[in-house]
Amino acid sequence: MVRCTISGNNKGGLISMTNTEIIEGKVKTLFSTSEPDKVLIQYEDKVTAGNGRKVDYPEGKGKVCMEISELLFKTLETYGISTHYIDTYPERIMSCKRCFIIPIEVVVRNIATGSIVRQTTIKEGRIFNWPLVEYYLKDDEKDDPLLTEDRIRLMGDYPLRDMEQTAREVNGILSKIFREIGLTLVDFKLEFGYDSEHNLLLADELSPDGMRLWKEGKSFDKDLFRRGEGDIVDAYKDILQKLRLSKP
Ligand code: C5P
Repeated sequence: MVRCTISGNNKGGLISMTNTEIIEGKVKTLFSTSEPDKVLIQYEDKVTAGNGRKVDYPEGKGKVCMEISELLFKTLETYGISTHYIDTYPERIMSCKRCFIIPIEVVVRNIATGSIVRQTTIKEGRIFNWPLVEYYLKDDEKDDPLLTEDRIRLMGDYPLRDMEQTAREVNGILSKIFREIGLTLVDFKLEFGYDSEHNLLLADELSPDGMRLWKEGKSFDKDLFRRGEGDIVDAYKDILQKLRLSKP
């Protein structure tokens, strides 16, 4: 995570550079604004895998991820899920409530694949009738290790039960939305934060960068990039178009 002082007053295009603190993440850049409870998040034309070990800069990727996130955050809000989303600006900037981000990544799994298959004896493709909710430390230097509830309790006072319940609700809603456009939601990662009034909000991003979506054995998510199998921007744009048509 890099902190520096640049500028940042924006209503269109890219953020102009004068006097705003930023936090540079792997694929997003966070700008503070003159409003203390509001930040701007710029989605970059960048994709990484393997904790930043594989990187590419596909044109249009930031915009499509922002637009999918916008659509999904707005839809979740209609179901009563509180999120950090406020508004969007052209082309790939989202304004959000400033949050203290809880350093725990919540992963929901409906079908076994990825790290759970690599790290256990659970077989690829096993369907979890009761979806798994897992917790990982949000720490790139430590490679985001799997946490236990006891370890989390020793780390601090985090709202595990509330995060788990929200994650299960989000899973139900997103699974239905993607089923309606012919895709199976296999797994996904959520991040949570507290706003200045200590409300627990769904934060970060909701796009195929942080989820697995399958159709007839094929992937329509970041696994295309992880495995070098196809163009993620085309796949993500196709998902966005279908989501817009289905009006979730
Ligand atoms: O790698 P793993 O199988 O544990 O990933 C589970 C799900 O969480 C996948 O959809 C993956 O894209 C997402 N994830 C993520 N960011 C991480 C870890 C996992 O978006 N740091």
